[in-house]
Amino acid sequence: MNFHHGDAGPALAGLQQELEIASSSFLEQYHQEVEVYRSEITRGLQEALARLRQDVQEISAGNKICEQLAEQASEYVDWLQWTFWDLPYFAVAIRPAVERFRRTVAACGLVYLSIRVFDDVIDRHFWYKARHPTLLSATSKTFPSSQGAEGLTILAGLLLCFEGLATMTDPSQEGLEQALRPVLLSARRAVIGAMMEQSGPEEWTAPYYERLVQLKNVDYWRCLYTAIDPDRVSPLYPFLTRYYALAQYLNDVQDFAEDQRRGQPNLLSLSLPEPNGVAPCLPYDGQRPPAAPVEVEQFLARSFLELADLADGLPVPERLIAQLKLCESLKAAQRLGLFGSWGATPDRRDRQGVAPSWLHWCSDIQEVIERAGSQALEKVNCAVCRSTERKYLFQKQGFAFYRCTECSHIYISPRITAELQARIGNEWDGDDSENTFLEVQRAFAGPICYLLRSRAPGSRLLDIGCGRGYLMQVAQAYGFEVYGLDSSRAQIERLRPQFGQRLVQAVLGDEELIWRSFDVVVMSHIVEHLPDPAASLARVREVMNPGGILYLAVPDMNSLQFQVFGKKWDVINPLVHFQYFNEESLSRLLRESGFQNLERVQQAPVPSGMTTRWLRLMRKLGGSDAGELAMLAEVPGDE
Ligand SMILES: [Zn+2]
Repeated sequence: MNFHHGDAGPALAGLQQELEIASSSFLEQYHQEVEVYRSEITRGLQEALARLRQDVQEISAGNKICEQLAEQASEYVDWLQWTFWDLPYFAVAIRPAVERFRRTVAACGLVYLSIRVFDDVIDRHFWYKARHPTLLSATSKTFPSSQGAEGLTILAGLLLCFEGLATMTDPSQEGLEQALRPVLLSARRAVIGAMMEQSGPEEWTAPYYERLVQLKNVDYWRCLYTAIDPDRVSPLYPFLTRYYALAQYLNDVQDFAEDQRRGQPNLLSLSLPEPNGVAPCLPYDGQRPPAAPVEVEQFLARSFLELADLADGLPVPERLIAQLKLCESLKAAQRLGLFGSWGATPDRRDRQGVAPSWLHWCSDIQEVIERAGSQALEKVNCAVCRSTERKYLFQKQGFAFYRCTECSHIYISPRITAELQARIGNEWDGDDSENTFLEVQRAFAGPICYLLRSRAPGSRLLDIGCGRGYLMQVAQAYGFEVYGLDSSRAQIERLRPQFGQRLVQAVLGDEELIWRSFDVVVMSHIVEHLPDPAASLARVREVMNPGGILYLAVPDMNSLQFQVFGKKWDVINPLVHFQYFNEESLSRLLRESGFQNLERVQQAPVPSGMTTRWLRLMRKLGGSDAGELAMLAEVPGDE
């Protein structure tokens, strides 16, 4: 470990941009392959854990404690699977066969996570990074009277470990035994690292610390990495071994206060070494610095630059993958407050006066957990019929999509909370200048208003989710008295000169609306965003006159678009859209929310000039233009 001198700041600022470009380029080209490997991880773990629970039940003849422990261990491992989610990137370069990938990752993964479980017990971690209860926490709750929660947790960890090792030695699982010895050797080194970590401050020298990180972190990572590259032949491998050491140094900056409290070694606890590099050093004393002492900051900056050089020498796609990982880490470093004074901080708006979420609509579940915590996720049932019965469909961005077996509605669980969704929306508010979706909606506004004019019992119209106000403008021309509501402050302010106080910025939730007595309510592409559409529709119905007409449009899961593109259809976005309807489930929702006389509306074609290549293909195949499901529904009359 060399603490270099000299200012690396300007070079680092230039690096950021280069890494961003490489990351986008990689994701553009390979996101589908990443997604395939990622879903195989989930599937492989689910299979392995189901097998384990089954075996435990059989072997113990249904013993309660055994079953409970296997259950809790499974739950923890299932949650921790996001710690595997670098592997799909590396797999894109190494290209293991999908079948083999699924089995070896599950096997090596169980060994890898068993060490995590032991570590939780040693350090008495009851929460994983303050986000999720650990297995130790679960067993302590389930067996409160038992003196042996820690012992039981160790036993559960051993169970996971042996399950993984047994799978690798299974003669029917061809090719897995190749991973066995490297995994065992790395696991042994990681265990030695865990022992070394218990040394007191008098032992904390730079060479000690460097070795500790190699064993406790890099070898630990190797237990998992072996699954995809048992012979360590990938050109990525030398880069990654150094990269994971750097990742640990960044963790140290983050965990400094906690490590100090626990009396554990930390990068920041090392003062600069003597020229011979072996002088013992004392724990860092004094308050936690803004991010890190300048020497440490310089050392980390040099590490980034050296790794960037190493990445540059790699072939493609290895180079892009290395740059993508570096890009993530550089951003993480900046979030910790490192390198800020060098002007390399990313440009993100902070509209709320609160810390930005650092999430975007294409963020995956791992980023959500890392940046917003697991409390930003919630498990839900079907929002249409409340049933818990469901069939797993696929994953996108790491989120699981299910079809309700009761009413055929498609939804996500767990999903982000409505509050986080609104926060992300706020942070990206106004970024839709090139949104072709809104342009298509503009084309639909005329025919919709014509239809509504012929059906409405009166002229008061509310457009919920008025967006750019196209429909409001057209409706006004058709003689409606128009009101608009939108969650986007930017959109509302844009329309203010034209519609004044008939606009409100609000999120349609389960709260009361401020106006009443509408003859028409339009909700075009709103309901699919809502956490609880039934509650929101109940509020909408309250502000409608008897005989009033609701026009509702959502993406149609029975459309040709969904059949052809499946989860690649851009409508399928777990952070943007919580609900995915078809005619059956939307009708049920409307009826149960008190609407009647439902009628499907056939959409007018999109004008030529606005048609895309895909749209023309859809027409050829006999599909509708927007893959949209539009319906009219009526509030029952007085009599
Ligand atoms: Zn349902």
